[in-house]
Amino acid sequence: MSDTDIESVEDFRLRARTWLAENFPRAEGADAFLRRGASEEEELAEIDRARGLQRKLFDGGFAGVCFPREYGGLGLTPDHQRALNEECVGYALPRILQVPTFVPCAAVLLEFGTEEQKQHHIPAILKGEEIWMQFLSEPSGGSDVAGALTTAVRDGDEWVVNGSKIWTTGAWFSDYGLCLLRTNWDVPKHRGLSVFIIKIHQPGIELHRIEMINGSREFCQEFITDLRVPDSDRVGDVDQGWTVGTRWMFHEKNAMGGGSPYVTGALGGNRNRQGAADPMVELAQATGHFDDPRVRDLVGESYMLRAAGSALSERIAAGMRAGVFPDNSAAIARLVNAVVQQRNVTIALDLAGSNAAATLADDPWAEQGFNFLERQTSGIGGGTTEMARNNISERVLGMPREMTHDKNIPFRDVPKGPSGN
Ligand SMILES: Cc1cc2nc3c(=O)[nH]c(=O)nc-3n(C[C@H](O)[C@H](O)[C@H](O)COP(=O)(O)OP(=O)(O)OC[C@H]3O[C@@H](n4cnc5c(N)ncnc54)[C@H](O)[C@@H]3O)c2cc1C
Repeated sequence: MSDTDIESVEDFRLRARTWLAENFPRAEGADAFLRRGASEEEELAEIDRARGLQRKLFDGGFAGVCFPREYGGLGLTPDHQRALNEECVGYALPRILQVPTFVPCAAVLLEFGTEEQKQHHIPAILKGEEIWMQFLSEPSGGSDVAGALTTAVRDGDEWVVNGSKIWTTGAWFSDYGLCLLRTNWDVPKHRGLSVFIIKIHQPGIELHRIEMINGSREFCQEFITDLRVPDSDRVGDVDQGWTVGTRWMFHEKNAMGGGSPYVTGALGGNRNRQGAADPMVELAQATGHFDDPRVRDLVGESYMLRAAGSALSERIAAGMRAGVFPDNSAAIARLVNAVVQQRNVTIALDLAGSNAAATLADDPWAEQGFNFLERQTSGIGGGTTEMARNNISERVLGMPREMTHDKNIPFRDVPKGPSGN
């Protein structure tokens, strides 16, 4: 199909606006999943609701805007996706399904999956039938993704997997994991990895939920023992997992930076539909200090940061699509998004003042306090901001690469910490 055969962005936008108004529920506060103190039953009900809403989007013809038609998508452009995102503001979107299921997982499958894998999984993902998670980090470390120790050993048409993954957000309610594994210890680190699709709930995977200091139990650790994975679930070539991994990291950063065309709804981009109430203005009004000059300063700063962050994300995404910026520029949007998010959380805390000390989970003010306590996470999940800085200096600006000691030696000879071998 040529570009001239597809629906114009404005027609698509108007159709989406009408369809959403007639068919989609408006958002009412935070999802149960994101509400502190929600019970497991409430969280599971929220996941089911998200699956149902995704199905609704699919049946209405608004799911998978940039996914090819042969896999159930709409085969449209990032401009169509952006128009849909703008129209979606204020609706109860199935946000929990967007990252990492659609991106990076489905995006990686699109690039590297076999035809059978794509036919099997992508339509199911677009219908909300499959939720995917990323199995990357290990107890030995997460920044050095290529240092994975969890190992797959070939046995005929299967692989036998042993090891442990950790910090897998939401694995307990998910169906599949995209998993980076070591398949060769006799070559340098980056050359002995492969990527597999792993069904999460099956014998051979013992899943533990990790309780954090704020009571959240969204993170999981998986202990994998003699798990048998069919070779047909391998994504990409044997020992070429870093080729897949590089694109995986790109899609992840692109999503964290708000520039991915595979995400429905604003994630990180801080896009507000024109005329929509500004959340900081609403917060300032609620404090009763609306006229305070210092409050005005903070609200103005927050707006400027969000507007600049959003514009930068869109500029970077457009530049990468046009080939003007290298794909590693996704790290710029990822970094600025985390910096903006962290500063905004601090501004919200300043505006809320002592109200934010409320500790009851259902107190509307408590959100500012809890968000502040968790503010570092936006600079860690999806790769840390320190790693994004490295990426920008080395791979965008061409500065000298960080010194490594493990580049040209077999991985089995690389000295490892206590949790390595
Ligand atoms: C909200 C959230 C969601 C997450 N979801 C997932 C998930 O679904 N799946 C998954 O696999 N993981 C997930 N993670 C884990 C995350 O990817 C890791 O925490 C992250 O990559 C850092 O790894 P680490 O915690 O092992 O820290 P380390 O890698 O041990 O790093 C420790 C510190 O050292 C710094 N550092 C390390 N190496 C360098 C370097 N070369 N140069 C400069 N600084 C460096 C890091 O920036 C960090 O500050 C999630 C984390 C968070 C917070």
